[in-house]
Amino acid sequence: MEKYINYAMCKKCGGACCKQNGCVYLPKDFKSLEASNIIKELDKGKISISGQPVNFFANSWTYIPYLRARNKDAEIVDLITDGGPCINLTDSGCSLSEDMRPSGGLLVKPTKIGGPCEKMNKDLGMEWLEYSEVLEYLIKLYTNMNMIDVIVSQISEKIVVIKKKINNNIPLSEMEKLNMQWYYQVIANKPYYEPDEVKNMSLILY
Ligand code: SF4
Ligand code: SF4
Repeated sequence: MEKYINYAMCKKCGGACCKQNGCVYLPKDFKSLEASNIIKELDKGKISISGQPVNFFANSWTYIPYLRARNKDAEIVDLITDGGPCINLTDSGCSLSEDMRPSGGLLVKPTKIGGPCEKMNKDLGMEWLEYSEVLEYLIKLYTNMNMIDVIVSQISEKIVVIKKKINNNIPLSEMEKLNMQWYYQVIANKPYYEPDEVKNMSLILY
C-alpha cells in the first residue's frame, strides 16, 4: 500500500491532524472482521466504532460505520465524535509503529505544517460499506440501541452545545463545525436509509 510519511515535517507540526481526530482504519488493517475479533480489538481501549453520514440519491442520507483510532475520553461507540486528540498521540508523535497505524493516517500526505494536509484516499468510508452489518450489530451490543438511534441521540446532544456556543459567541472547534454541517446539510429532516439498503440499491454515493 502507498503510504506518506514525513517524520521531520510532522514532528515540527506536532501532530495537528492527530489532535483534531483519530485516523480511520481500513478493513484490510484487520486480520479478521468477525464480531469476536473486533470485540477483542475494541477491548484493548484504543479503537472506537465511529463513522460518517453520507448524502446520496434524492437528498437522502445513510451512515457508514467504520473503526477509527479512539480519541481521548471518547466512548467505544463514538458515532458523532467530538474529535481528538487521538489516544495514540504522545509528545514524541504517534505511539503506533507504521505497521500498526491506521491506513487512513498513512494516506495523509504531509504537505502543510499545521494542516490541513491532503488525504490521498477520499473514499475510506466506502471501503467499510460491506461491513456495516457487523458494526451495527456491535453498536447494538455496546449501547443496547440501534445505530440510527445512537446517531440521533449523539447529534442532538452536540447540536444543543453548538447552539449555546454560537449564541454566546464562543468559537466552535473544527469537529463542532463539521458536526453542525453534518446535521444541517445531511441529517436534519432528510430521509434516512440503512447502509444495507443503500448497498442493495447499488447507488453511487457522493
Ligand atoms: S497536519 Fe500534516 S504536517 Fe501536521 S502532523 Fe498531520 S500530516 Fe503531519
Ligand atoms: S493513530 Fe497515530 S497517526 Fe493516527 S491520529 Fe492517532 S496519533 Fe495520529
